[in-house]
Amino acid sequence: MLPPAHGGRLVQRVASDNERARRDAELSDLPKLAPFIDAVYDAEKIAIGAYSPLEGFMDRATFDSVTADDRLPNGLPWTMPIVLAPSDQHGAESVRNVRAGEDVALMDGKGRFFAMLHVEERYPLDRKRFAEAAYGTTDPAHPNVADIFALGGEALAGPVQLIRRLETPHGPTELTPTETREAFEKRGWKNVAAYQCRNPPHTAHEYLQRLTLERSDVDGLFIHPVVGRLKSGDYRPDVILRSYEALVQHYYPADRVMLAGFTITMRYAGPKAAVFLAIVRKNYGCGLYIVGRDQAGVGKYYDPYACHRVFDGLDLGLVPLRYEETFFCRKCGWMATTKTCAHPASERVATSQTRIRQALAAREPLPVEIIRPEVAEILSGTEGVLSG
Ligand SMILES: [Zn+2]
Repeated sequence: MLPPAHGGRLVQRVASDNERARRDAELSDLPKLAPFIDAVYDAEKIAIGAYSPLEGFMDRATFDSVTADDRLPNGLPWTMPIVLAPSDQHGAESVRNVRAGEDVALMDGKGRFFAMLHVEERYPLDRKRFAEAAYGTTDPAHPNVADIFALGGEALAGPVQLIRRLETPHGPTELTPTETREAFEKRGWKNVAAYQCRNPPHTAHEYLQRLTLERSDVDGLFIHPVVGRLKSGDYRPDVILRSYEALVQHYYPADRVMLAGFTITMRYAGPKAAVFLAIVRKNYGCGLYIVGRDQAGVGKYYDPYACHRVFDGLDLGLVPLRYEETFFCRKCGWMATTKTCAHPASERVATSQTRIRQALAAREPLPVEIIRPEVAEILSGTEGVLSG
């Protein structure tokens, strides 16, 4: 059986056709807010149930609980604050006079009306506490921490309702938790392993996916790359998706692997992000979750295996599949980890993105030990494959 959503019930806060028509008609009378893109993505994800059991942006009690204990006030594990705190640059003035009990129309980056917020509380946002609790640092050089300190000083809390899906360049490949659950059931999958990623696949990623597919307790693999806002220098979302399409199409049995984009802002929070991203994938119907080395890490902020240890003793209702660093060993002639290979580090071919970037920059051919030629072609054949 597919796991129930976090907290037991998949949240559904999507307007019916009638509600949408009514909301569209009253739009001119409503205060409007065009939040920063992170909150735009979050509003949609809340409404489609990806962040179940959240029904809206966090109130003060929830923010305090999550930042103090990594739990929601009802005791459920939750590690990432989900808040709406518009800065002056992102419309704080337009909601200055909105009081608890009133509605605000949320607009996307193109000025389209996409969601409603029913404001239940306004409270001062402790941005330092947010950064320390979720990211373990207040260093402004950390990409997400800089974003937190750019938020407004006051948060608006309350339930959201989705009026219409966001338009993304990756729209057709993005699925809701309801859609993935239906797709898994249609395929007869009961035990689905989720693979979180934010890079084009190289052989170390592929090895983890294959190890997972070989398990007798896995019916299918759900590859779910984050293709929303990434940090500067990451590969562009469309490049990530196209390279995964190439891998799946050319190498994996079609009835065992499913691929869909996941449009959120990436949280480079190491262990706290690993738990958050695992909970979200449980909501999409995955009972197993792959955790490689240094998941959701950035720079040297996190111990590479803190993302493994964080799952110890945490009852998430899913099975974390923890894998060590993998490499190609020349002596073994295979992908391996230190658990399966006896040879010294000098025999290992590093499969890191850094190695791939260097080869691409030098216009060197990329060996198949590191990356599939179909994927390499996408990376080398595209101008400007990186996010700005
Ligand atoms: Zn070896």
